[in-house]
Amino acid sequence: MPKTFRCCIAGGGPAGMMLGLLLARAGVEVAVLEKHADFLRDFRGDTIHPSTLEVMHELGLLEAFLRLPHQEVRRLTGQVGDVPITLADFGCLPTRCRFIAMMPQWDFLNFLAEQASRYPTFHLHMQVEVTGVLEEAGGVAGVRVTTPHGPEEIRADLLIAADGRSSTVREQAGLRPRELGAPMDVLWFRLSRRPTDPEETTGRFDRGHIFIRINRGEHWQCGYVIPKGAAETVRQRGLDRFRAELATVMPFAADRVGELREWEAVKLLSVQVNRLAQWYRPGLLCIGDAAHAMSPIGGVGINLAIQDAVAAANLLVEPLRVGRPAPDDLRRVQRRRDLPTRIIQGLQVLAQRRLIAPALAGTVPLAPSLPVRIMTRVPILRRLPARVIGLGVRPEHVETPAMPLASRG
Ligand SMILES: Cc1cc2nc3c(=O)[nH]c(=O)nc-3n(C[C@H](O)[C@H](O)[C@H](O)COP(=O)(O)OP(=O)(O)OC[C@H]3O[C@@H](n4cnc5c(N)ncnc54)[C@H](O)[C@@H]3O)c2cc1C
Repeated sequence: MPKTFRCCIAGGGPAGMMLGLLLARAGVEVAVLEKHADFLRDFRGDTIHPSTLEVMHELGLLEAFLRLPHQEVRRLTGQVGDVPITLADFGCLPTRCRFIAMMPQWDFLNFLAEQASRYPTFHLHMQVEVTGVLEEAGGVAGVRVTTPHGPEEIRADLLIAADGRSSTVREQAGLRPRELGAPMDVLWFRLSRRPTDPEETTGRFDRGHIFIRINRGEHWQCGYVIPKGAAETVRQRGLDRFRAELATVMPFAADRVGELREWEAVKLLSVQVNRLAQWYRPGLLCIGDAAHAMSPIGGVGINLAIQDAVAAANLLVEPLRVGRPAPDDLRRVQRRRDLPTRIIQGLQVLAQRRLIAPALAGTVPLAPSLPVRIMTRVPILRRLPARVIGLGVRPEHVETPAMPLASRG
């Protein structure tokens, strides 16, 4: 592997792969370092939001992307106690795709890798784990990695930490996120789906628990929201009781809850909501979950990671052409993305306090609150959650140039 790049990205998740593609497409020498051997992982969210689909369109990739198997979710619905509500209807969005495309994250990442690999300046190195950062007088100068052939050092004018919410780079660089807190964790698992099942992707709020089911065609991706730290208690109560609870919230699938044969099939997402006060140091920029872990409310983590990548590329391609971006260039990226992150996290924390925590504690009568009732009844207000979830705040657009592709026929 070459030892020097203009830009080195730690982490091949949505943020890292999108930024890698955008930089390579603009002719910048970029290496993405991913510790896993492939993109096949446990479920980590399969949501590709309208704003990401808009980015794919701007890259000229939308048609090819939508040829991959996916489902299209046009409305998010919920049920509070016995009252059904529409949480978001994407039909009103001013975008080409008025739906969330549900696609396995590994298909999405493989697609980005394939597209990026068409550019000679793109270098994807799998099974390369970043273990430390190289410090020089002027700031961060690269990374220490382990590879299948042993340890190495890679130098770069700019290091991007896109290595997720437990970012090694962030930690090694001495940046600490501030925790905003979350009252819940989520148990994720799958159950098979039959053609006679309902179609809807929906969330159900009952006293003491919240249950989410996502239609993934052949199967249901299910999320069981529990109070923070309660996973062990749920496990101790036993799998039989867990299955029985599932049968009550998903009665049409009561005959299938036995598919959960052991706790291994149930993955715990320990929810974190946090963000860095400063996303950068000289020679280093954090983006995506490494800069801000999002609550699962609205399923917007992937979306924000992609938006950070687009903004970073827009602001950094020109400085990267001539060398090392200055701290001011990095500050501009944070300035651009900090406000959208704060607003979305603020709304998530509000929803956690007003909806999630009381529902989990079982302390309130279960009915949609007044603001929720008003929001779901007044057409103009109904658009608000669709915009916030589907597009986010201040959606980014691709402004970076595309180098001609030598291999294009
Ligand atoms: C169970 C679960 C369900 C979720 N559901 C949703 C959802 O429905 N919708 C949604 O939008 N978001 C969801 N999320 C959140 C979403 O996965 C993240 O917000 C999003 O993936 C962030 O992208 P990222 O590129 O910043 O980081 P990540 O996706 O975390 O990617 C980081 C990458 O860096 C790699 N890496 C880590 N450390 C190193 C290292 N030291 N060296 C090299 N590589 C490294 C990792 O292997 C990974 O590929 C979910 C998360 C989980 C865990």
